[in-house]
Amino acid sequence: MTLTRTTCPYCGVGCGVLAGADGTIKGDPDHPANFGRLCSKGSALGETIDLSGRLLAPQIGGEQADWDTALDLVASKFSEAVREHGPDSVAFYVSGQLLTEDYYVANKLMKGFIGSANIDTNSRLCMASSVAGHKRAFGTDTVPNTYSDLEQADLIVLVGSNTAWCHPVLFQRIAAAKAARPSLRVINVDPRMTATRDIADMHLRIRPDGDAALFNGLLAHLVANGHVDADYVAAHVNGFDAAVAEAQASTPTDSGLSTSELDAFYRLWAGTDKVMTLYSQGVNQSVCGSDKVNSILNCHLATGRIGKAGCGPFSLTGQPNAMGGREVGGLANMLANHLDIENADHRDAVQGFWESPTICTQAGLKAVDLFNACADGKIKALWVMSTNPAVSMPDADGVAEAIRNVPFVAVSDIMARTDTGDLADVLLPATGWGEKDGTVTNSERRISRQRAFLPAPGDTRPDWKIISDVAARMGWAEAFNYEGPADVFAEYVALSDAASGFARDLDLSVFADVDYANMIPRQWPDNDSRFFAEGRFYHADGKAKMLPITPPTPIAHTGFHLNTGRIRDQWHTMTRSGKAPKLGSHLAEPYVEVNPADAAALGLGLGDLLRLQSNEGRATFRALVTDRVAKGQLFAPMHWTRQKSSSGTVNSLVTPITDPTSGQPALKAGKVSAERM
Ligand code: SF4
Repeated sequence: MTLTRTTCPYCGVGCGVLAGADGTIKGDPDHPANFGRLCSKGSALGETIDLSGRLLAPQIGGEQADWDTALDLVASKFSEAVREHGPDSVAFYVSGQLLTEDYYVANKLMKGFIGSANIDTNSRLCMASSVAGHKRAFGTDTVPNTYSDLEQADLIVLVGSNTAWCHPVLFQRIAAAKAARPSLRVINVDPRMTATRDIADMHLRIRPDGDAALFNGLLAHLVANGHVDADYVAAHVNGFDAAVAEAQASTPTDSGLSTSELDAFYRLWAGTDKVMTLYSQGVNQSVCGSDKVNSILNCHLATGRIGKAGCGPFSLTGQPNAMGGREVGGLANMLANHLDIENADHRDAVQGFWESPTICTQAGLKAVDLFNACADGKIKALWVMSTNPAVSMPDADGVAEAIRNVPFVAVSDIMARTDTGDLADVLLPATGWGEKDGTVTNSERRISRQRAFLPAPGDTRPDWKIISDVAARMGWAEAFNYEGPADVFAEYVALSDAASGFARDLDLSVFADVDYANMIPRQWPDNDSRFFAEGRFYHADGKAKMLPITPPTPIAHTGFHLNTGRIRDQWHTMTRSGKAPKLGSHLAEPYVEVNPADAAALGLGLGDLLRLQSNEGRATFRALVTDRVAKGQLFAPMHWTRQKSSSGTVNSLVTPITDPTSGQPALKAGKVSAERM
């Protein structure tokens, strides 16, 4: 069997996969992210490539249609809305599941040709707070480290990250490093006791959103005990005094930890030179997510523990191509290639390069605001690509209503029935993993190819092609006249070159003239690149910035704090992973974890159902009584859709409040009451 070298379509680790049309799946031993390892989800990919449930032809109003009719309709509805109501009356909501080429073309159409920045992505739900934190501290959205730093660190702090389940191959790398070198310490900071705790030398059970108090306390400890690298700060960092003053004024026990726990953590962190702080959705998905990110970055900047081997803050991205989306400007507040919408020179450069008739001049609507605008009647045409916001957004029922309120909705997907697709006027059948070609960027800035090893089924087409065909019908055929994804990638790289006069991190020159068909995984700006080694950052004066962070004051709530997240063997709304019988056997139905003390107070017995109610909605889950959650807290997975569970979906319960800086929703901060059924 011929095996094709490609990349896993699930998490941001970005593992290399060898895949065959007969369903053979192996880890790619030559891929630097995984060196042949795969997790349960990656290993089961062969069980997910059948055509059951696939959308194989365009549909209009539920009836099969031909491509020309469907594309004409989408183009005419978007053109009509722009003509009658202006460019900001239309919106795209896209996905970290798209390949970079798809993302680039969608962004180009919306920002450079329609002239609005109303394109946002489910990556807003994943790592927007990290982007905001990076930009505030570094002057650019740069992930400083590489995976190989994990093997060189002496202390790895995992904050708000169930790495064992959500980035399993990285967890395997950390576990292997610790087994080979037992002096490597691991600290797990998490309100829950997860599988990640299994390798931790210390578990710090903070209260939800206690992170900033914890890291402010660390900064104050570093100052008080002489651990600041004064020379580094003087040469490379602004904002030190203000950040320290705020840290010294805050109360570390607001983190929910005891003074002895805090002291043990602070001593270990301060006493170890090579510290990596890895963080994920427990940090990002919060009303203070950006501040939590900057409280972590502050500690690394104050000690110069950044830009060196085995040191640094490291944001683990959730999706396979959240990073690629960031790079091509898939977020509503970014332009393309790490250029800024707010910067007139950047806008001119991009518009000139694209030879486009217009360019957006201000940030567009971020995810929650975008669907609020749908509800308010401001959006007249919406195109959802490769994601299922009617389930995955907070206040999922409200979002479904908002989509219903849009006069024209197009949905591109690989599946015929999704909660969002059921609301569409037009369904556009996209090729899926294994059928399409393109690139993705993983958490360590490594660009890898995804390659087709299966024929495109039915009338399916790749997303970049669907978008280009609509753009052509809107009058811009020449600018979207791509032969294939290699053309798109070459243009993306050329834009990076055209913008090379601007001081910024994104440098794709190693991909110029690349042999796209045989491209091997490679980091930008080049392999093993570690940013900030020279202490040069991207603010105008070349320095980094520490920010004064005010942690939230703990507030006592009645009812329960609802945390949501992923489980080991499912992915997002189970469109693909739900097909694999092997994956369904791990945790087979929606459930909610309940602390034994709360279970006793609620009168819960083995296998009882628990109904949760919030201001937004209600849903019912099987109660799993466990001390993995603390008293007063609940945890429920986010994967089950209304179509897969008659008892409701957990995001129906979550209030759509957001971080004011990043716009990222606080998906881990539901407030619910609970009642035994
Ligand atoms: Fe895929 Fe992530 Fe598992 Fe690697 S760790 S096989 S990228 S899901």
